Amino acid sequence: ARPRVVVVGGGFGGATAARSLHRAGIATTLVEASATYTACPFSNAVIAGLRGMAAQRFGYDALRAEGITVVHQRATGVDATARRVTLVDGTTLPFDRALLSPGIEIRFDGLPGYDEAAAEVMPHAWQAGPQTELLAAQLRDMPDGGTVVMVVPPNPYRCPPGPYERASLIAHFLKSRKPRSKLLVLDAKDVFSKQRLFEAAWASLYPDTLEYVPLAMGGRVTEVDPKSRRVTTDFGTQDGAVVNVIPPQRAGAIAQLAGVADRSGWCPVDPASFESRLVPGVHVIGDAIIAGAMPKSAFAANAQARVAAAAMVALLAGRAVQAPKLLNTCYSLVAPEYGISVAGVYQPANGLLTDVSGAGGTSPLEAPAGVRAAEARYAEDWFATITADVFG
Ligand code: FAD
Repeated sequence: ARPRVVVVGGGFGGATAARSLHRAGIATTLVEASATYTACPFSNAVIAGLRGMAAQRFGYDALRAEGITVVHQRATGVDATARRVTLVDGTTLPFDRALLSPGIEIRFDGLPGYDEAAAEVMPHAWQAGPQTELLAAQLRDMPDGGTVVMVVPPNPYRCPPGPYERASLIAHFLKSRKPRSKLLVLDAKDVFSKQRLFEAAWASLYPDTLEYVPLAMGGRVTEVDPKSRRVTTDFGTQDGAVVNVIPPQRAGAIAQLAGVADRSGWCPVDPASFESRLVPGVHVIGDAIIAGAMPKSAFAANAQARVAAAAMVALLAGRAVQAPKLLNTCYSLVAPEYGISVAGVYQPANGLLTDVSGAGGTSPLEAPAGVRAAEARYAEDWFATITADVFG
């Protein structure tokens, strides 16, 4: 019989892996809780009123048409000894190997005052869907002159440049639609992705709109109060007309249930095969893993999915796993016609994925408007290409 793999999570990582495994002749079942996937990349543009939600939604018909078994249920357990995944309705799915790409879970115990009810008042919008629409509506409906407060978490979290792209696009929205309003960005760290590029862009585009407060200047938020829409830092309190809290995160709940997450909340894996270091036979990819230097991005999840699928095919056939090289590029928009990027190449070393030195880099710090406009177009092209690759 053909070897069987169950993939849990049909996002950028899991849907890519399911396709790669199926195309390699593995009997593949994809377990995804939701019938529609809502993509996070470009969701910051939705929040800023530059794009509709429909452009973020994708379905699984193409995967089904290809012959992949897609089951829309929540997985509630992974038994690596009995080699089966349990679904919420009690069904069990047997496997020879399993792959988890569950993304993130918000840590509602990670920031005092921020629980599920608070997220309905102070949206995180860090999992695209209703939260994205809620934050967009709050911005649209707030009075001109109100302050928007953004709370940015310490590392590690999904999409390292994402908060700064969001800050840029909210500043663009305020500058053009609510010119008397301000954006205050409170950050729990001092150093972030593409920092010099973002800061140069903010100084030229949004000097009167966006104020950035790093950790060293008192940016760490220690408590939030949804009733008063107030946040507390080491230095005082701040009220917002709109408050966007990006809280701490960990690997999706199934990772904890399967025993593949460690005490950090994230999943240690072998960087060549993406097999769990804690539970043999179960592979983990995407945002959920401890990936060393590789960021938690859709690009990275897609790249890891191909490598993990090839490794699983090799292991199922009793062959050795090849040492991979993986690529990542993260685009960010700082304004509609202004894109910047960071790229890197990664390889296993000392048990983690490490930077291949000299490969990759960021957009130039000084560049004419035409270069920034071209990168904004490359970002759109990247999104069209990756979503066609994963769901099309
Ligand atoms: P996900 O894409 O989150 O997929 C996980 C899937 O698993 C979900 O569909 C979920 O429903 C399902 N699932 C979870 N648990 C279960 C279960 N128990 N049973 C069944 N199904 C389950 N990345 C980029 O590369 N470029 C960008 O420009 C970019 N912009 C971003 C902007 C924002 C605002 C944010 C928040 C993120 C951005 N990202 C970007 C990051 C990107 O969205 C993630 O890195 C990517 O989605 C990770 O893929 P994944 O497969 O690990 O998880």
